[in-house]
Amino acid sequence: METWPILISFTYPHEAYLVKGYLESNGIEAIINDELTAQVANIYSNAIGGVKLRVSESDYNQGIQLLKDGGYLQEENYKNESKVEIVLFDKSTNKKICPFCSSDNIAVNNKPGVITTVVMAIINLIVMIGAIFPRFKSSFKCFDCGKEWKYKRK
Ligand SMILES: [Zn+2]
Repeated sequence: METWPILISFTYPHEAYLVKGYLESNGIEAIINDELTAQVANIYSNAIGGVKLRVSESDYNQGIQLLKDGGYLQEENYKNESKVEIVLFDKSTNKKICPFCSSDNIAVNNKPGVITTVVMAIINLIVMIGAIFPRFKSSFKCFDCGKEWKYKRK
């Protein structure tokens, strides 16, 4: 029997559907797992590994290549915040400008949303046993130099 490995996973079902459509338009059949769980409780979506998009083993390598071509793998990295740099700040730090190029063309990524944060806070209170759930903090992105960063008090 042919296996269907996970090609990529997403926090939200609509992201998975977007990529499913993209793959299928390129002739690759894709299936989506754990969609319902993610819709019912987005908070658990990351804990269970998100909404999983699977393709047949024979399509896997082509699928990865299509994801790269479509820029979806970069998005996944961005989601994991692997590019986010830590910037030390003090009272004199102007958080309205980019610490790397001083541009004011920046955006704040507040993730997840307010409701999720409240749910997270409750769950964190319940579990308390350390870092079962990652702590989310606002990160910043500069549209001029492309850097992403978070602030950490000196
Ligand atoms: Zn910048």
